[in-house]
Amino acid sequence: SICFLNGTFQPLADARISPLDRGFLFGDGGYEVIPVYSRRPFRLAQHLERLAHTLDAIRLPNPHAPSEWSGIINEIIARNPWADQSVYLQVSRGCGDGRNHAFPVPIRPTVFLMSDELVTPPAEQLARGVAAVSAADFRWLRCDLKSTALLANCLLRQGAIDSGCVETVLFRDGFLTEGAASNIVIVRDGTMLAPPKSHLMLPGITYDVVLELAAQHGLPYQVREILEDEVRTADEVWMTSSTKEVLAITTLDGLAVGNGTPGPVARRMYNWYQDFKNTVMRS
Ligand code: PMP
Repeated sequence: SICFLNGTFQPLADARISPLDRGFLFGDGGYEVIPVYSRRPFRLAQHLERLAHTLDAIRLPNPHAPSEWSGIINEIIARNPWADQSVYLQVSRGCGDGRNHAFPVPIRPTVFLMSDELVTPPAEQLARGVAAVSAADFRWLRCDLKSTALLANCLLRQGAIDSGCVETVLFRDGFLTEGAASNIVIVRDGTMLAPPKSHLMLPGITYDVVLELAAQHGLPYQVREILEDEVRTADEVWMTSSTKEVLAITTLDGLAVGNGTPGPVARRMYNWYQDFKNTVMRS
């Protein structure tokens, strides 16, 4: 596939960065993953806004204006073979003075994008839902930033894999935060419940779409703190992300969620999401 590294499009296999890059040494950078349907990026403006928020918070000057990002992203989409892609974009603080933690002066960021085929959940997972485990959320207190420092997320996701599961649902101080690489929403008595955005979770682009769709279609919903026990006794639990879209979690820690199959509200939301995608992509 074709990637972009500091101004140059090239085969991914040929791309090279220095081992002194602070992205490599410290995980000092921010990133985004943008889904592309029929060669058109979905919710690009929102992804670029979230990138700007991350870079601003980590004091890394944004190397490109939105129109420039858009140009690079569209070119990487055009240069790769798939109609549906997931575009990965990262900006690191570049090379510094060896392992000095302090920021280099000046900062010369490393800008890297690559793309792969977008693989959304297979029909079997949509029909049966997926299994999840839970864990204590031991990440830092800036989970609102899409930082490339993902060691905690890697450990938490691997915990799910080791148990034959797909995702880890995280609780902090007795409340739901999110998944290791997704947001979590639940349904109780026909009402969709979503945790409020805070420093404890990533403000998901898909999470926003799901709330917009609930409002648009008159599905009752509340954005409020969700107790761990409310998740464990929910009628439905879903994970949402740009690549998983809306996916029902049907077992949590080996126990059935609701009746153990994807619930009716999950099915409706999944269909609304597909319709919305198709409408946006055709407009
Ligand atoms: N939370 C975390 C920790 C994530 O890594 C992700 C993205 N994979 C999400 C939530 C979902 O965000 P989005 O809907 O923007 O993909």
